[in-house]
Amino acid sequence: MKTIYKVFLNIIILTSIFLANSNIYAQNNFDKWFKNNGLRIDYYHTGTSKTEQILFKELKFEKHWGGRKKNLIDKFEYGSYLVKVYDAKTKTLIYSYGFCSLFEEWQFTEEAKTLNRGFPESLIIPFPKNNIKVELLSRQFEDNSFKKIFEMEINPNDLTINYEQKLEAEIKEIHVKSKPENALDLVFVGDGYTKNEINDFYKNVKQISDYLFDTEPFNSNKEKINIWAVAAISLESGTDIPQDKIWKSTALNTNFYTFGSERYLTTSDYHSLRDYASLAPCDQICILVNTDIYGGGGIYNFWNITSAKNPYKNEVFVHELGHSLAALGDEYYEDEVSYEEIYNKNTEPYQANLTTLVDFDSKWKNMLDDDTPIPTPVNSLNFKTIGVYEGAGYQAKGIYRPYINCKMKSLGTEFCPVCQRAINEIINFYAE
Ligand SMILES: [Zn+2]
Repeated sequence: MKTIYKVFLNIIILTSIFLANSNIYAQNNFDKWFKNNGLRIDYYHTGTSKTEQILFKELKFEKHWGGRKKNLIDKFEYGSYLVKVYDAKTKTLIYSYGFCSLFEEWQFTEEAKTLNRGFPESLIIPFPKNNIKVELLSRQFEDNSFKKIFEMEINPNDLTINYEQKLEAEIKEIHVKSKPENALDLVFVGDGYTKNEINDFYKNVKQISDYLFDTEPFNSNKEKINIWAVAAISLESGTDIPQDKIWKSTALNTNFYTFGSERYLTTSDYHSLRDYASLAPCDQICILVNTDIYGGGGIYNFWNITSAKNPYKNEVFVHELGHSLAALGDEYYEDEVSYEEIYNKNTEPYQANLTTLVDFDSKWKNMLDDDTPIPTPVNSLNFKTIGVYEGAGYQAKGIYRPYINCKMKSLGTEFCPVCQRAINEIINFYAE
């Protein structure tokens, strides 16, 4: 009896020591490998619809590290690309994250079939204390596996690492409740606001933030989200509208008519954008463009972009944030642009709110009632039913969504429970 008690007691003591240590270990892990700054690897992502190549440009020091310090390894692996950072000496994986890019969207255009083109991109990691090896992997359409497309060893004492602070801009704390390392940091950068229009920019950030905090699941996570505004000043007001022959000199070089789509507002000038975003602790870049023309876009862990003065701005922003923050897919299937080949119906897409039913167990199956049929019919009885509704991801057949309607399908609705769960998981991953 005594022995059993003793063993039991030992287990309790050992367990509590282990728990205490694992916490300290997680915190120390960051301090063991990294400094409290960022390292940016600038490069050009080049190729055609079928090929891709990385052309290295330079390394840059970033003053702030606003990212994760506890969850150093990305447990989601969403996105088309995966960045892995290893300690060079011990080969330990010490940091990772997934993302998507504008280059990849361009690969679906007609011109990509014959033209070789390059887009600026950056990898952002915490600044290492020792030599590291960085790998960039690209997801393969055929089987969803990741293939290495670039690697480099980096010595943190390399004299060519660029420490120049290229820009200055006023930074305003719009809603800062937690330390950046314990929060999801949304950094708003304005484009097409002149010096005299900067108060307009702050007003637009405030309007959109107020709407965000009225929307679930952001409303319930207010204390875990920081909002910063970086007042980039443009020479001219507005943005490029090529279809109207309007061209403006602006800080972030945004434009409509991306890839021939009139309302697709983007910037391909990633390095300039990153120069501004790095002035604040940053997890997500949110670009507000000083125009009233409807438009926007969102690319996972890359940026989201919204027309700041269009009547639908709030709705568009939150929808695009669904893409850029949580890698959610579009739940609609009718669009002016046809993306026939975006999803391979023989594999399970990584998006948490889409399924091809190839591996539905990995998706929202555990949120379904036992008597919900798969596929689930769209009828008035099912408006509040989590199901498996055919039609999503730009395709009427073969791809399924979890809810009849959702913010990822149309404006003016709530996020469905599956999208809310995915966003919640991401916020907590940053805020833990
Ligand atoms: Zn949804």
